[in-house]
Amino acid sequence: MNALPAQLLDGKALALSLQTELAAEVRSLQQRLDRPPGLAVLMVGDNPASAAYVRGKEKACEKVGIASFGQHFATETSQAVLEEVIQTLNHDPRVDGILVQLPLPPHLDSVALLNQIHPDKDVDGLHPVNLGRLVRGELGLRSCTPSGVMRLLEEYHIETQGKQAVVLGRSILVGKPIALMLLAADATVTIAHSQTVELGAIVRSADILVVAVGRQGLIHADMVKPGATVIDVGINRITDSEGNSRLVGDVDFDSVQAVAGHITPVPGGVGAMTVAMLMQNTVWSYSRSEKRA
Ligand code: NAD
Repeated sequence: MNALPAQLLDGKALALSLQTELAAEVRSLQQRLDRPPGLAVLMVGDNPASAAYVRGKEKACEKVGIASFGQHFATETSQAVLEEVIQTLNHDPRVDGILVQLPLPPHLDSVALLNQIHPDKDVDGLHPVNLGRLVRGELGLRSCTPSGVMRLLEEYHIETQGKQAVVLGRSILVGKPIALMLLAADATVTIAHSQTVELGAIVRSADILVVAVGRQGLIHADMVKPGATVIDVGINRITDSEGNSRLVGDVDFDSVQAVAGHITPVPGGVGAMTVAMLMQNTVWSYSRSEKRA
């Protein structure tokens, strides 16, 4: 156990300061480009968690000076209608970023839909072209949650070179891209998942542990190497005995903070950074929009 509790990696504070910096960048770019940046967030159906995320993104857009071209569609909207909307946005010069809020209703093919987004406007970094650029180490739009994790590590001067990094979860959205980004930052990376055996020993070897599973309390203190950096990507909604609901991560924060060197809170950690990286991607795409024209 550490003499001191872990240092908090404050994603909320960093996200706010990044948004202030981006707002200044937008003001300066706007003098040349003569229009604000534009982001279209497409939401289908009435998933309350998705609606809350979309509101958060729109609020951040306002703060940074990004125009919102968001659209909300009824649950039963067809694939063809959504594909047409994406094609229109691909050709709209006021729009620099297009994001489809996931998850989608089950009748829709989310992969086919995401593939319709022009790679230069794919601010979620999920198009195969941008994932391919990540694999090859080329410049491109990177997915927001993994970028947010890397930016937090950088901000707090957490060394990655030569460190043992363990990523729990292998999704295209989080696990795989974060593993590739840590690899590009010279960490030695292990990816663990639902079929991993001896998970405890692997997790305990981590200098940097990224947990992106979606299971409350998966990681507790005796699984964590003393002094490790613990990044909790998981978001789980729990309801207490009095019926109050709140968000928690995958890491048992109270016990792990006594062992870890650094730890992200939930909320106020990776989630806040995800939105900030979306703003950053949109502004980056905007700054390159003359090349698109
Ligand atoms: P997913 O369901 O697509 O993937 C979960 C992964 O966890 C899978 O690869 C699976 O193999 C692995 N897994 C399942 N059980 C496991 C176990 N017992 N041990 C080790 N690995 C196990 O989910 P996702 O989209 O990658 O999201 C993961 C979590 O991150 C969710 O809680 C999600 O809400 C959250 N999330 C947070 C943000 C954010 O901004 N903070 C963004 C995206 C996702």
